[in-house]
Amino acid sequence: MSERAAGPEIQRLVQLLARLPGLGPRSARRAALHLIRKREDLLAPLAEALRIAYERIAVCSSCGNIDTLDPCTVCRDERRDRSVIVVVETVADLWALERAAAIRARYHVLGGTLSALDGVGPKDLNLASLVERATADGVGEIILAVNATVDGQTTAHYIIDLLAHLPVKVTRLAHGVPVGGELDYLDEGTLAAAIRQRTAF
Ligand SMILES: [Zn+2]
Repeated sequence: MSERAAGPEIQRLVQLLARLPGLGPRSARRAALHLIRKREDLLAPLAEALRIAYERIAVCSSCGNIDTLDPCTVCRDERRDRSVIVVVETVADLWALERAAAIRARYHVLGGTLSALDGVGPKDLNLASLVERATADGVGEIILAVNATVDGQTTAHYIIDLLAHLPVKVTRLAHGVPVGGELDYLDEGTLAAAIRQRTAF
């Protein structure tokens, strides 16, 4: 942004907004102008929400979720099936599964995947506490809800080996035809996985 168009405060706002994922400099300028126009309705509550998030949000010491409570709201929820732990890569994946409302269980957030290319090893992930939780009384199933990427699957195999000596069932998400998907548009790997993992009607 030109220094002549706005003072350093507005420039700083635009620069910070431009660092958000999905926002380039142009969208950041538009967002900044929108916020300034909606000063009372949007800018003030957003500033307050950001302040509260900065002060109060913490990582759950049990599952790795983020919340203002530790243990988090999900871990505290007594209505959840405590025999199942769903392993996800990131908090975004946890939120996605909660939006789908497909399962009412507890989670374990790994904080990424193993990646030789990016130098991410087992010690960089939330794995030690997963073994601890999988050993706890009443836990009967660990669902590996990791991405169907090379790194995701490498991580899944590592976890399967890690938990092999425990009396828990380890399962993973099905691979195959997405809901509403057309076969003609699918890649060969997905089609092959769908055939291999076919289920009885
Ligand atoms: Zn938690």
